[in-house]
Amino acid sequence: MNTLTLLKVATATLIASWGTTPTFAGKLSVVATTPDLAALAREIGGDAVEVKALAKPTEDPHYVDAKPSHIVTLNRADVLIEGGVELELGWLPPLLESARNAKIAAGGPGRIVASQGIRMLEVPTTFDRSRGDIHPFGNPHFLLDPQNVKLIAAQIAGHFTQVDPKSADLFKTNLRKFTTALDLKLAEWQKQLAPYSGSKIVTYHKDFVYLAERFNLEVVETLEPKPGIAPSPAHLAKVIATMKAKNARVILVQPYQNRRTAETVARQTNAVVLDVPQQPGALKDTDTYFELMDYIVRTVATALQETK
Ligand SMILES: [Zn+2]
Repeated sequence: MNTLTLLKVATATLIASWGTTPTFAGKLSVVATTPDLAALAREIGGDAVEVKALAKPTEDPHYVDAKPSHIVTLNRADVLIEGGVELELGWLPPLLESARNAKIAAGGPGRIVASQGIRMLEVPTTFDRSRGDIHPFGNPHFLLDPQNVKLIAAQIAGHFTQVDPKSADLFKTNLRKFTTALDLKLAEWQKQLAPYSGSKIVTYHKDFVYLAERFNLEVVETLEPKPGIAPSPAHLAKVIATMKAKNARVILVQPYQNRRTAETVARQTNAVVLDVPQQPGALKDTDTYFELMDYIVRTVATALQETK
């Protein structure tokens, strides 16, 4: 066999092996719509997975800028993790249609819908989308309750095991480690926020309701009159009145929300504006779920102490 023939055989073998191996080095290719879900996938998947998030940490998960590269990423995925309850309604369906990937089809082992099994808060009694509400099936920002994250982690481990049975032991071990660590951290976070039980906070969007419920805080107003509807002067006047009446002096905003509006309200209510991203990686040293929650709990506790 001459060199040229050898090269041809080698190339053919390589292409054939690419055809049967789902991803580079046999790792599962996992795509998550948002960085928080990607962070959980990394905890559970460890070295057996390669994880990508479609949304940037600083992007609003409701309005992600869809790019051609997202289609390529979805086309090559073995597993897709989405938040569900229409969080990604505005941008994911067209990307999935173009990606044409049966492995991540709805209802299959390669598709994880995080909201499944979560006790949803703020489920409207009437279908409200026609009036602009972007939470028609309940509040989709449920990852700020660590108890929900435990359920999602277990769901991820279950799907990973179905798609990649040879790594079942690894997923099981990682899930156990993650859940044990999360229980310990949850107790720590509850202790940190316990002195502020019943404290009143204001948020820009309805994105902290699960955190508030878990840690006994009360969201007395949101700057948006409804999820996805921009603040109006009339609504902000009502927010200011409520904040003064209830002595709420902390406003939480995320990187993609209008901080100036929050600052205007804060000036009139002697309040502070806190930058509290919900996505890992939006700020330095918040790449894991634990680091992110450490940051959120510390930031909120400090502000509540200072405005007490
Ligand atoms: Zn929302």
